[in-house]
Amino acid sequence: MRGACYDRAMFLPAARPVVPRPVNEPVLSYATGTPERGALLATLNAMAREQPEIPLVINGERIHTGRLVEVRMPHAHGHVLATCHQADAADLVRAADAARAAWHDWSRTPWEARAAIFLRAAELLAGPRRAEICAATMLGQSKTAHQAEIDAACELADFLRWNVHFAARLYAEQPESGPGMWNAVDYRPLEGFVLAVSPFNFTAIGGNLPAAPALMGNTVVWKPSPAAALSNWAVMRLLEEAGLPPGVINFVPGPAEELAGAALARPDLAAVHFTGSTDVFRWFWRSIGERIATYRTYPRLVGETGGKDFIVAHTSADPKAVVTAIVRGGFEYQGQKCSAASRVYLPESLFAKISAELIETTDGIAMGDVRDLHNFMGAVIDERAFLRHDAVIGAAKSDSRLRVLAGGHCDRSEGWFVRPTLIRTKDPRHDLMQRELFGPVVTMFVYPDSEWEQTLRVCDETSPYGLTGAVLANDRRAVLRAHEVLRHAAGNFYVNDKPTGAVVGQQPFGGGRASGTNDKSGSMLNLIRWVSPRTVKETLSPALDYRYPFMK
Ligand code: NAD
Repeated sequence: MRGACYDRAMFLPAARPVVPRPVNEPVLSYATGTPERGALLATLNAMAREQPEIPLVINGERIHTGRLVEVRMPHAHGHVLATCHQADAADLVRAADAARAAWHDWSRTPWEARAAIFLRAAELLAGPRRAEICAATMLGQSKTAHQAEIDAACELADFLRWNVHFAARLYAEQPESGPGMWNAVDYRPLEGFVLAVSPFNFTAIGGNLPAAPALMGNTVVWKPSPAAALSNWAVMRLLEEAGLPPGVINFVPGPAEELAGAALARPDLAAVHFTGSTDVFRWFWRSIGERIATYRTYPRLVGETGGKDFIVAHTSADPKAVVTAIVRGGFEYQGQKCSAASRVYLPESLFAKISAELIETTDGIAMGDVRDLHNFMGAVIDERAFLRHDAVIGAAKSDSRLRVLAGGHCDRSEGWFVRPTLIRTKDPRHDLMQRELFGPVVTMFVYPDSEWEQTLRVCDETSPYGLTGAVLANDRRAVLRAHEVLRHAAGNFYVNDKPTGAVVGQQPFGGGRASGTNDKSGSMLNLIRWVSPRTVKETLSPALDYRYPFMK
């Protein structure tokens, strides 16, 4: 049915369909001998030999602007994976016009018909498109097979399925009707277009930022991250294959500031759905604020941004669990998860027990080309990220308040490789305990065993962010104190676990403070931001006399 929107009067079946119960997509193991491993390796090989040109997609049409940028493998930066056509401000205007034109039909399309498209996309992703989207994520964003699987296959399928379930629940939320009347809330889409601006680090977020508003009847201009262009292009094609009509989501890669500037200049900007760094989101907020009187409605600003996520361990914590939480939480996907642990507080007695194992484990981590499935880590995303880490690690080596315990090496010869690095600081408020670096650097502060309470307070007050955090303790009183003191320090709080790995439908994700608007992606709370409710009261027997009985 691609190309067609649906008219409720013509197509609505005589039914109120119950949406299929969402189940989290099972994570495939890619262990030796499994069919998924064979399919993935074959797709990786084939994809590494191709060099597609990624176009813009405006109103369903492929646009080749001729302004090309290269997409390279972070772990083999000599290898050009694809080239990507770049939009300019005029293309952005065309995309917003296409979104506006598509809005007329799409906003009237029965929601079940919209939902079916996204459920179909989830099915295609979990089945025939799985290897392709995982391979594109591995090659373009340097994720291991496991990291690509949990992101590009499972989390994206979960977003698509669970959002349909949450939309059904939201639409079912209806007011009471008093005698003689019938009340309803009409969950209208926003008036205007939604600008979705996505980050490099999760293919699933790339897909969800445009798909969630579109599910609710909005039309979207999607500006993907240049560093995720290959996988995001595969997601765009997936949505088209599932039957998304032209113009509902318009795919516009290109120079961020120019495109965002053109989008923000339009009076019909209805919302920004953003995930990325705090500074960029603040720029959106400020720029929109400065021209607020020019918009037709108050644009909704939904942004999930940076973090300086913590692990606080108590003397009663299980030492092995602490080591695992630091290594997995800090270094998986090269520490490039917004939820990655990057500051750790350890009591002296526990540090004495685990430091040797922690250092040995960290230094033993296998890192390299992600096509070699033995590796636990790949490369950081690009030269900018590499240089940032190279500078920080270099400076740490000559900072008297810091000691590099493990890692501390960077190698750019083949790819943007930064060894997982553990740094111990004497100063719990050192810059490295506050600033988001977004890479495989974990800074640790070792506190006197007796100072649990003070440590919790330092942890709460040190960083401007409030995204994720974990407490590890077996003593329940210690856990309860952490709950209380750190209540506002993290929007996703973990007890005896690493602070990463939120699953849609199980741990709704998002943070407060400088980490964002905390609209919990993959939950009903997020979908609420994409609707503008209209309350309807129908009186079944209208009053026929203006006078009230007491007047008689
Ligand atoms: P980024 O801010 O550099 O880029 C995000 C998007 O904004 C990209 O599409 C980029 O092209 C665009 N952009 C960059 N500069 C811009 C500008 N001046 N004007 C308009 N748009 C601009 O972020 P990134 O490097 O892609 O992602 C990493 C960041 O994202 C980290 O800070 C991380 O914590 C955050 N993140 C947060 C969450 C969350 O849920 N809280 C999830 C993933 C990533």
